[in-house]
Amino acid sequence: MKVYKFGGASVKTADGVRNLQLIVEDCIGPIFVIISAMGKTTNALEVVLENFMERRGVEAREALLIVEKFHRDLIAELFGEDVKIDSIESVFNSLYDILSTKETIKDMDYDMWYDKIISCGELLSTLIISEYLNSRGVSNRWIDVRECLITDLKHRDANVDMELSEVKFKNGVKGANISISQGFIGSDGNGTVTTLGREGSDYSAALVANFLDAESISIWKDVEGVLNADPRVFSDAVHIPELTYLDAIELAYSGAQIIHPKSIKPLQNKNIPLYVRPFADKAKAGSVIKDRIKDKIVIPILIIKQNQILLSIRPQDFSFVLEDRLCDVLNMFAEYGIKPNLIQSSAVNLSVAVDMSRLLERLISKLQLEGFRVVHNEDMELLTIRGYDKAVLDKYCMGEDVYLTQKTRRIIRVIRKAIH
Ligand code: ASP
Ligand code: MG
Repeated sequence: MKVYKFGGASVKTADGVRNLQLIVEDCIGPIFVIISAMGKTTNALEVVLENFMERRGVEAREALLIVEKFHRDLIAELFGEDVKIDSIESVFNSLYDILSTKETIKDMDYDMWYDKIISCGELLSTLIISEYLNSRGVSNRWIDVRECLITDLKHRDANVDMELSEVKFKNGVKGANISISQGFIGSDGNGTVTTLGREGSDYSAALVANFLDAESISIWKDVEGVLNADPRVFSDAVHIPELTYLDAIELAYSGAQIIHPKSIKPLQNKNIPLYVRPFADKAKAGSVIKDRIKDKIVIPILIIKQNQILLSIRPQDFSFVLEDRLCDVLNMFAEYGIKPNLIQSSAVNLSVAVDMSRLLERLISKLQLEGFRVVHNEDMELLTIRGYDKAVLDKYCMGEDVYLTQKTRRIIRVIRKAIH
């Protein structure tokens, strides 16, 4: 068994879907294909959701029409004008039904509505692609991942029931040579849909690989493989052919958009190699992430995490923050689901960098209520450099735009004013 994962960028056009066919039909032996929502569908559905939650019915419908048109155009290109696919019709019907719900929309149910609406992106993409492959003679089984990936009800960040899901997947693929299924989504097993967090499809694919004891997993992307930096930001980025699981987890955690940070553990646990391969050229090897590699990585690796806010938190009463209040502070972060990306302390001050989040204002108010003075700087970025040398230090870690620096022998992390 092999697992392939295709991200939204790979299947955003009819040509992309045709290319997926070429890659999938080449594969010998059983294969499990995990697909994300097409193109920017997830973001587009988030616009629908925002309007829905704010009870702006007209705008919500308009936003949904954009999503609908995008998929209908793609279907027309793949199957011909005016072709209707029943399963696609029913996904759109259920979305329009949600928008005209008579239920009272409560703010506290935001995450539940999020999962209901946003999960439709993956349903649409996999239904279209499965149907297309079947129509081209590449027969496959569409698997409703909501029946296999069983989670708790922590909406938008659901925890997977590993044992139960493994059994369900093993049953689900019996007798199928090509299985097509959705990344990112799951369910509680009783009809309530959940999601695993943005960019969660990589994680889904890694889980499936683990459950099915896959020989390998390939993530098909619109890049050459893993690079030492984002080529859109750093023009001198170079390709890294081999990485260890540990390299990958550190990179992903620091914000490198190669793979979702949670994806490594299920693979490492079963020693399954992960290939990151260029979608545009299946002949190229890309990069491989595995247990042991031949050559250690000797070049500096630069990772930027954007949209950071730097909070500076100080107890009003001058108590020692590390000794007396650290737990309180971290508990408040956890309460709002805001994860610190970097923490640094002095005697009475705690600096914490976090992602921009809609709950941040509430967290700040809560901290103030609990007796902390909070100052924050917006428009920051977190730059992590692994294996730094003097040249990169001088180039990226100096100057007045750098607000905070954390350094070990191998890794330097700086919070600086965003310049990208
Ligand atoms: N479609 C989801 C997202 O854009 C999940 C994924 O692509 O991995 O976040
Ligand atoms: Mg994606």
